[in-house]
Amino acid sequence: MPAMNEMLAKAVAARTEELVALTVDLIRFPTVNPPGEAYTPCAEYLAGKLAARGFDTRLIRGEGAPGDTDRYPRTNVIARREGRAAGPTVHFNSHIDVVEAGDGWTVDPFAGVVQGGRVYGRGACDMKGGLAASIIAADAFMATYPGYPGAIEISGTVDEESGGFGGVAHLAKLGYFSRPRVDHVIIPEPLNKDRICLGHRGVWWAEIETGGAIAHGSMPFLGDSAIRHMAAVLAAFEEELFPALDRKRTDMPVVPEGARRSTMNINSIHGGQTEDFFPGLPSPNVADSCRLVIDRRFLIEESLDEVKGEVVAILERLKRERPRFSYRLRDLMEVLPTMTERDAPVPRALAAAIREVFGRDPDYVISPGTYDQKHIARLGHLHDCVAYGPGILDLAHRPDEWVGIDDMVQSATVMAMSLDALLRGGVE
Ligand SMILES: [Zn+2]
Repeated sequence: MPAMNEMLAKAVAARTEELVALTVDLIRFPTVNPPGEAYTPCAEYLAGKLAARGFDTRLIRGEGAPGDTDRYPRTNVIARREGRAAGPTVHFNSHIDVVEAGDGWTVDPFAGVVQGGRVYGRGACDMKGGLAASIIAADAFMATYPGYPGAIEISGTVDEESGGFGGVAHLAKLGYFSRPRVDHVIIPEPLNKDRICLGHRGVWWAEIETGGAIAHGSMPFLGDSAIRHMAAVLAAFEEELFPALDRKRTDMPVVPEGARRSTMNINSIHGGQTEDFFPGLPSPNVADSCRLVIDRRFLIEESLDEVKGEVVAILERLKRERPRFSYRLRDLMEVLPTMTERDAPVPRALAAAIREVFGRDPDYVISPGTYDQKHIARLGHLHDCVAYGPGILDLAHRPDEWVGIDDMVQSATVMAMSLDALLRGGVE
């Protein structure tokens, strides 16, 4: 390892205790989303920690975003520390929200238990460990090179687990994720310390509703069953669409490998009248409505028009062929696939640092699902952005979630060296 990198590695290692303490403190804020518990105290805590390190900090509420109320304000923190000369800005963005703890824990999920070289707790790997690692990386870098050019930003944002609308999307709309303010973004999601996540597949969520005509259940021939029409839709999906999606392979390095193709999940189906009014008794009518929610994940090789077109073609054909078939199609969410080029500055800087720290090339991966990078690309128009951070993705959202202390230290070292390369090393 070159002497300069050696210095950074030592500066990170010397802060191991602080790194663990930060992670523990962050886990102790039960920032559970929904509903968005303890966002403000967590953001204030981060602002305090970053102000003490010379950052200018700002709390920004995602006003009007889904879930934003005075009881559950969507409080984000964004912090910036200017260097001594002009230069680019590197931004570390982490979400502070976590999913609910759920059952099956052997430790208190919000105590931040440190045991056997690991920190346990909800959000330990996804992604409070990554957030703490980025703070320590910046710390080590600033202490080693106090005269650095450019600027470092660190943000703690909310609601990633529910779409990021009150978090990164809100800040991106305000210009916080655009040039000239920011040039390079690293999102320390738990993709593992030697992997670089270049982006994610696309998403199209939609609701399909078939119509019918209500009638007495004893004389269904007088009505028209929306559920039977939906069954025809499902049969067409089974016979045509699912096999077709299965055949579409991508060159995107998606992990796990099963997601290296197009997929569709049927999230829910609701047909006919509710049984709630007559507990234990079925509805006595022919169903006049049936709704289906689909979650279609698509590839960079596919366009959104194509993706929607496949479903519309089936629905239109049924309309022609099936007497009295009618439908409505409603878009619920659209996210385009995104994939940063491997030779963009951030992945190049991270790759060089990973080679330095681990003595091997990084793996490049694509996430099957989306994360906040979508807003940075679409709203911020900033494309030099990847996810890189400590922790094992499979542990996220599960009981006894943990992050390894050595993994955090190594990951923080990679981040510190990348900062160095991007700010001082002229990686452009
Ligand atoms: Zn996450």
